[in-house]
Amino acid sequence: MAPRVYNPLTNVPSNITETNVPFEFRYSQFAKHMKPSPIRELFKVINQPGMISFAGGLPDPAIFPVDEFAASAGVLQRDGKVALQYGASEGYGPLIDVVQRMMTAKFGRAIDPSELLITTGSQQAADLVARALLDPGDVVVVEAPTYPGTLHSLRNAGARFLCIPCDGDGMRVDLLRDAVAMCERETGRRPKLIYTIPDFSNPTGACLSLERRREMLRLAEELSIPIFEDDPYSQLRYLGEPIPSIKSIAGESPAVLYVSSFSKILAPGVRLAWSMGDPGLIRSMVLLRQGEDLCTPSVTQALVAEYCAQGHLDRHLEKIVGHYRAKRDAMQRAMEAHLPSAKVSWHEPQGGFFVWVELADGGCNELFDRAIAEKVAFLPGDAFYPSADEQIGRAYSGDRAIRLCFTFATEEQMDTGCRRLASVLGG
Ligand code: PMP
Repeated sequence: MAPRVYNPLTNVPSNITETNVPFEFRYSQFAKHMKPSPIRELFKVINQPGMISFAGGLPDPAIFPVDEFAASAGVLQRDGKVALQYGASEGYGPLIDVVQRMMTAKFGRAIDPSELLITTGSQQAADLVARALLDPGDVVVVEAPTYPGTLHSLRNAGARFLCIPCDGDGMRVDLLRDAVAMCERETGRRPKLIYTIPDFSNPTGACLSLERRREMLRLAEELSIPIFEDDPYSQLRYLGEPIPSIKSIAGESPAVLYVSSFSKILAPGVRLAWSMGDPGLIRSMVLLRQGEDLCTPSVTQALVAEYCAQGHLDRHLEKIVGHYRAKRDAMQRAMEAHLPSAKVSWHEPQGGFFVWVELADGGCNELFDRAIAEKVAFLPGDAFYPSADEQIGRAYSGDRAIRLCFTFATEEQMDTGCRRLASVLGG
């Protein structure tokens, strides 16, 4: 058969005309170039019987507050006629009230509802921010490594990435100014957004130091680059003193959009998160979601609002911090007892869900294949970096690291899992 000749603009074979395009060629250019989420693809391999998984960033289902949550469903007797109706795009009133109270306490100033938006998980907030701020080809500053779910949303909006490496104190903010200048030289564009996970980052578990938070904000304001502060983990601190969020350092400055979520402090199944930011940006996000999902399901918002109004969330938080602290400690013990110190190193996380393990010999993907054969799973470091062709300037990769989640496995599984990991690391 003669090789097909493709039209370089449409990617459709040139013998196909407008009138006879087969279904396989009808996808948009965007859809044709979509990449699968590496993590979601890996889960197909990981979910095998007998596997010990340090892979998914999953809360421990053993402490989901099932009874209290079921009791909160009583709100439907009282408020069912509203909760079962379409809701406002901004969010369900009683849940906005709960979030407004939480944010007023956290930030120590009166928060206006026009600064708030309830979304279907912070994943949706990432999608809305990306589409509100980015045009195709725009550049976003990201930590290297960073959370792939947000990379996915930014990529969907056509972003390219300016990666800033991290150390035990989070993003190397001291490199930011030169990196932005390099980006302007190479692309003729100033980055449109800085994305950061300052507290117990996914994947590194690191906390951005106070000095770096201040410096990041100074630069963001000087260069007019807004910050997207993603904070699902700050309430899960097991050691040390809390560090103020960048949003709270910024006060009422429009420079920071703060996003947090009920996924890790309550349950990811509720798919509820909130954004707090400049009313103009919040309004753009609202308008975008009117063409996306109209509103977050009112029923789940009503249940969570009731759950919080009953005081359950505060009690639950206390419980899970103790629970996850014990798990963190058990994971550290298992890692120290079994993992070969000549082959791996890590910073002990003070909170969150993850330990980022650096590999002396690199080769995270080969290690992953060998580990799966031994029935222990983690996520290879590569999953937390944009691909080389998406990066501006020097390309960073995660070949020399892996991420371990310590909240999901039992203590016994941690011990066995670390033994298995040690056997595939060798040495
Ligand atoms: N941001 C970070 C840093 C995360 O780790 C996660 C969840 N793993 C999310 C966002 C998405 O959370 P949600 O369930 O609220 O969509």
